[in-house]
Amino acid sequence: MGSIVLVTGASSGFGAMITRSLAGSGHVVYAGMRNTADRNARAAADLGAYAAEHGVQAHPIELDVADQSSVDAAVAQIVDAHGRIDVVVHNAGHMTLGPVEAFSVEQIAAVYDTNVLSTQRVNRAVLPHMRRQRDGLLVWIGSTSARGGTPPWLGPYFAAKAAEDALAVSIAAEVSRFGIESTIVVPGSFTTGTNHYAHAGHPDDETTAKQYDDLYAAAIDDLLAKQAALSPADADPGEVARQVATLVGLPKGQRPFRVYIDPAQDGAEEVFRIGDRIHRDFYRTVGYEDLLHPAP
Ligand code: NDP
Repeated sequence: MGSIVLVTGASSGFGAMITRSLAGSGHVVYAGMRNTADRNARAAADLGAYAAEHGVQAHPIELDVADQSSVDAAVAQIVDAHGRIDVVVHNAGHMTLGPVEAFSVEQIAAVYDTNVLSTQRVNRAVLPHMRRQRDGLLVWIGSTSARGGTPPWLGPYFAAKAAEDALAVSIAAEVSRFGIESTIVVPGSFTTGTNHYAHAGHPDDETTAKQYDDLYAAAIDDLLAKQAALSPADADPGEVARQVATLVGLPKGQRPFRVYIDPAQDGAEEVFRIGDRIHRDFYRTVGYEDLLHPAP
């Protein structure tokens, strides 16, 4: 029998692809989207049509990760329907482009809210069910961004993804004795196929941003173009979705802690591998190796 899965931020990009991949693998997938009555009505209708055409179980569900009552209602609806929730894919996110100084504090707080606090809202809704079940899987859509080449102009977003990663690493150990497994998916930069770059936020303080533009604009355009050129032309964002479906299908206890999909190979994998080895060595040294794996 397939798992009961919730994907956040499933109206576009990786989230929409992950929803379809998982549903195609036989899981019952709830595609979390905000504003399904208006802004994302088209995405919800498209998913309904896709599910009918392919005979799969993929259901749009109203879920704004910025709103705890919306998150709680979506999770309650899923648990009421199935009595359980097996997998959560923390995918919702939002990028920014611009010099850090030109973002207001409120803007940076909002970036943290969408990329980091959102996962806490969802976890506080789903983990009580997973702990009761003594079973579950947290899949985090992380990023190579804070560990690889790290170009400038993306600071608030990189900082938020680094914070999300740190939470994921700590939570993995804290929930493992409840039988809950964690995998962090680490995509590199995909400049097409998602709304990531097209919907990026820009600084409110345009006066300051302009002063940076005077010195950096040409360099930043050049640098971002060169970064994009590091990826092969056929880099397929759908590979992220296929990798998520593969890992969800693996038996409990055999899922990798991280999965890398980085066509540009920007070096983040090397850094994460060292960090994860030191993390594992530490747990072994202090005699808590069991926290590295979900209890059976
Ligand atoms: P998209 O912009 O296509 O997808 C982001 C999704 O998050 C959208 O569906 C958006 O919904 C949703 N979202 C944002 N805020 C909220 C909210 N408050 N409530 C519910 N949903 C929300 O970009 P990607 O598919 O590229 O991004 C998905 C994830 O992948 C993000 O976590 C991103 O950090 C990560 N990532 C992306 C990379 C890339 O290069 N593309 C590289 C590495 C990681 P809405 O349509 O309503 O705005």
